[in-house]
Amino acid sequence: MPSTRSAEQLTKYEKIESFVKGFKLSGSAYKRVMALLHQEMINGLKHHSQGGADIKMFPTFVRSLPDGSECGEFLALDLGGTNFRVLLVRLQGHDVEIQSKTYLIPQRIMLGTGIQLFDHIADCIGKFVVEHDLQNHQLPLGFTFSFPCQQEGLAKARLSKWTKGFRCEGVVGKDICQLLQEALQRRTNCHVEIVAVVNDAVGTLMSAAHGDRNCEIGLILGTGCNACYMEGLDNVGTWKHGEDQDHHPRQVIINTEWGAFGDNGCLDFMRTEYDHELDTFSINPAKQIMEKMISGMYMGEIVRLVLVRLSHENLLFTSADRDCNLFERGRFYTKYVSEIESDTDEFFRNTKQVLDELQVENYTTEDCKVVKYVCTLVSARAAFLAAAGLATLINRLNKQDMTIAVDGSLYRFHPRFHNLMCLKIKELVKPGLKFKLSLSHDGSGKGAALTAAVSLRLRNLKMTTSGEENGKNLATQTISVKA
Ligand code: ADP
Ligand code: MG
Repeated sequence: MPSTRSAEQLTKYEKIESFVKGFKLSGSAYKRVMALLHQEMINGLKHHSQGGADIKMFPTFVRSLPDGSECGEFLALDLGGTNFRVLLVRLQGHDVEIQSKTYLIPQRIMLGTGIQLFDHIADCIGKFVVEHDLQNHQLPLGFTFSFPCQQEGLAKARLSKWTKGFRCEGVVGKDICQLLQEALQRRTNCHVEIVAVVNDAVGTLMSAAHGDRNCEIGLILGTGCNACYMEGLDNVGTWKHGEDQDHHPRQVIINTEWGAFGDNGCLDFMRTEYDHELDTFSINPAKQIMEKMISGMYMGEIVRLVLVRLSHENLLFTSADRDCNLFERGRFYTKYVSEIESDTDEFFRNTKQVLDELQVENYTTEDCKVVKYVCTLVSARAAFLAAAGLATLINRLNKQDMTIAVDGSLYRFHPRFHNLMCLKIKELVKPGLKFKLSLSHDGSGKGAALTAAVSLRLRNLKMTTSGEENGKNLATQTISVKA
């Protein structure tokens, strides 16, 4: 009865479609996102509205991009995601040498006290310094700290809130540089001075701008999602009078913290039942709404929730055991999405391997097709939403040629993310504006060190112009910086 069977199939696909259609959004929906996002950004930049704005648009105190003259030996720290790393970065013009070591941050520390966290970090730095025989070196440190911070100086940043997997007690509202410097004093004998704290988006931008003059936007697609860009100082109403200095260009990198876009409900028109469920079971309900629709920490879980729903509706894995890992929260990793979407033929090798890992039994080729389809819908929405964000920034900056520095495992490893983003940005930017997405290498290490180097260069310049005595300054002791 071939005709009846195809009628049944059709209904099945129609049914599946009804459970996933929320991920398919029109061009006008993304244009609406852009208009909302731009308004929120403007609110975040204005002094009188920043307090109530979801997107904080933090001025970073990074006022200048690298110019290639940066030299010296730096430590860098990368904290704020999946891995914690300590890096030794040696800069010599465009030659950059990096040695690094990854350390584990146990869950009990991620959810413990601030003191425990910073003591742990200081211990890791202490070990690293000994292993690299740097005990007697004066080391300027660039700290990549990828959580929303209100900066009061290049090396003074108060944590606004924890995001991603972290929730350490007693840190919100405190200056994280001071907490780290105190921990270093308590726990080590090394001569480390924190000279700059940046987030990973800023590090990514700094790192790519080192070799590309057109680069003025940085984007992270990793555990979280965030962007930064170079803004004219006159547009930054939150920039306090007196913080400006003559020798700086009238510009500053803005850390948008756009992951929080939608926290006021303005994206609810495009959220699906799966987004709501993911949010309910997250450690920060109702927060980081845009981030939860895009980033690596959540994408796999969204896919899993759809698959579970389809399976409960008997549209998928009809003979699978309901106790298998697929039905457990957090078990469907975002890397699976990349692997599944890398299947290009009807053998579904990767998809089958993932389903085996999840202990799904008795699945069919038909099931594999549906699983891959769900992955493509969820990842395309993420890529398009990130693209809408970038298009908003590209239009705002309105430059002929713009390079966007991108970092993060989701961008790096997902087989279609780059192409999907380019496609959508083209559709959304003003005619005539050209752009390029470029993978930034080691933004959190090289970028943090470059920020420290630029800061020392400007510090030196200031001292030269004001005729100050250099005295014990680190900049003159350990590194030569061309002013
Ligand atoms: P971080 O943002 O923490 O510095 P990464 O850039 O490595 O670190 O991003 C980690 C995130 O990337 C995790 O949420 C993980 O799920 C996701 N991820 C890791 N591997 C892949 C992959 N192959 N494809 C897509 N996402 C991945
Ligand atoms: Mg990172």
